[in-house]
Amino acid sequence: SRRGGTARHHQGNSYPPVTRKTYPIVETFHSVQGEGLWTGVSAFFIRLAGCDVGCPWCDTKISWSTKPHGQVAVADLVQQAQAAQPFMVVITGGEPLMHDLAPLTQSLKQAGLRLHLETSGAHPLSGQFDWISLSPKRFKPPQPEIYAHAHELKVVIANAEDLAWAEEQAAQVPATTVKLLQPEWTSEHSQQLVFDYVKQHSGWRISLQTHKFLGVR
Ligand code: SF4
Repeated sequence: SRRGGTARHHQGNSYPPVTRKTYPIVETFHSVQGEGLWTGVSAFFIRLAGCDVGCPWCDTKISWSTKPHGQVAVADLVQQAQAAQPFMVVITGGEPLMHDLAPLTQSLKQAGLRLHLETSGAHPLSGQFDWISLSPKRFKPPQPEIYAHAHELKVVIANAEDLAWAEEQAAQVPATTVKLLQPEWTSEHSQQLVFDYVKQHSGWRISLQTHKFLGVR
């Protein structure tokens, strides 16, 4: 068979501009996806800082401001993700779409990694993903354009009013989008509420925050 013909890539002493770009990072870690349709799958998490949605029950308030968090270059994030050898990389926050995710996802994709996004959809969609988990919040609703791109819709339920909000959101996603209701961890009644609702409404599934049951990140 014919061999050769492959262009050789010469790397200079510095990274190309796209991999030098930095993002404010709260933390990166290797775990398993704790919630949503991909629960239980090996995942490397990149948690970006910055969120202006303001959910009162937010469990990552540390991510709201970008100021306390260090800037990390795309090249370093790609290296960390590759080293973990996960099934997928999950870009989360904070609200990751407060940043232009195109440079980050371009480089992660070039490294052959599968990319998932967890977003409230409150800011314009950027970057390229294999899976988009849209978790809309009443406090700052999604940009209308994002609904068509949601592979899963995951609505956090703290009280009965949230179920009506979940139905409003479900009316805006494609028929193929997986619809999930996730009990709010600190709300005592939310698990029963979601359990009862899913039994009566077969279009929905339950998403549990299994990492919290396991006591891991
Ligand atoms: Fe917290 Fe997420 Fe709500 Fe932002 S969108 S306040 S990070 S739960």
